[in-house]
Amino acid sequence: MPLTVKCPICHREALWENNPHRPFCSNRCQLIDLGAWTEERYKIPSDDLDPLVNDSDDDDDDAR
Ligand SMILES: [Zn+2]
Repeated sequence: MPLTVKCPICHREALWENNPHRPFCSNRCQLIDLGAWTEERYKIPSDDLDPLVNDSDDDDDDAR
């Protein structure tokens, strides 16, 4: 009986041995996971900066 793991992306059984994409079942699922991970990393810094930019914009409107 071959050793298998559950693919974290599509939740199908994936071979563990001789599988270059483990723990994913295929190259496609590996790329999906990598894309989701980097997307979340980009979101964090831009969310932090947004309130500061809006604050200075409000001050300009008040002076007018
Ligand atoms: Zn998969």
